[in-house]
Amino acid sequence: MKVSDIFNNGRASLSFEVFPPKSDSSFESVKEATEKIALLSPSFMSVTYGAGGGTSRYTLDIAKNIQENYGVPTLAHLTCVSSTKETVRARIEDMKVAGIKNVMALRGDIPTGMEDFPREYKHAIELIRELRESNGDFCIGGACYPEVHPESTSAEADLFYLKEKSDAGLNFLTTQMFFDNGLYYSFVERARGIGIDLPIIPGVMPITRASQVERAIALSGSFVPKEFLDIVDRYGSDPVAMAEAGVDYATRQISDLFENGVGNVHVYSMNKPEVASAILNNLSDILG
Ligand SMILES: Cc1cc2nc3c(=O)[nH]c(=O)nc-3n(C[C@H](O)[C@H](O)[C@H](O)COP(=O)(O)OP(=O)(O)OC[C@H]3O[C@@H](n4cnc5c(N)ncnc54)[C@H](O)[C@@H]3O)c2cc1C
Repeated sequence: MKVSDIFNNGRASLSFEVFPPKSDSSFESVKEATEKIALLSPSFMSVTYGAGGGTSRYTLDIAKNIQENYGVPTLAHLTCVSSTKETVRARIEDMKVAGIKNVMALRGDIPTGMEDFPREYKHAIELIRELRESNGDFCIGGACYPEVHPESTSAEADLFYLKEKSDAGLNFLTTQMFFDNGLYYSFVERARGIGIDLPIIPGVMPITRASQVERAIALSGSFVPKEFLDIVDRYGSDPVAMAEAGVDYATRQISDLFENGVGNVHVYSMNKPEVASAILNNLSDILG
């Protein structure tokens, strides 16, 4: 099933993101966590791609397992900047063989402190074109940044390249995490203003540990509203209360997005079935 069908069905739904194991020894525990999330029947699950690493093959193993054994559509991520054309082509062929219908086409972060990475790709658009030319009949998603990609010289330049990337053959966009829905709404308005008419799926990350806040900001550059910082101040030293408050904040964000007409919200569930399950329970009446 193509995930673009989900975005157009007019119903409120949640999808969840998981990441593959970082080492061979953690494969079974990660697989188990992703299976528990699959049993919650999300609209789809995305599986991230660890650029360059020796475990990048696990993205497909996890995605295939969820799709074939749990009947949940999957979206397999693929990055290009630290790979050769040969590797990327091989990965695309592997996806076809694995029956993957949905691909998140990403550049990936430019490797730091690594002089000899291949430099055969500069931007995600090159990967998108390659996927389109591969005859894979893929539904292709791309990344976007309501708070502007950290390398961009300006919001206008970022949006210009996003339009170019969208026109190269994307079916939908998923946003970087944000903690203030106003940033998402104004971004969608600006994107529509320059003619990007693809579904723009909001990405929400439930922060359930105080230590996650700094890491999330460092990775995404996201603005964290005072309301959320106050929650961390109040509950940060109590892990149980912090987890509950983090899930509550994410639930309120998602609920507001649904109220404002969003169909599917993508939750960065980080291999935590208990977080995915708590959010689904909180929203059970809305999700029906
Ligand atoms: C939803 C989502 C999922 C992600 N999943 C993963 C994952 O699984 N694995 C992983 O390693 N990383 C992942 N990332 C992180 C992503 O790889 C990084 O943010 C990366 O730095 C940019 O990737 P991109 O595909 O957005 O790049 P691009 O679209 O290439 O954009 C990167 C930068 O280049 C600029 N740009 C684009 N095209 C041009 C051009 N033609 N000329 C000049 N400038 C240009 C853009 O404005 C932007 O500043 C994800 C991010 C998001 C939002």
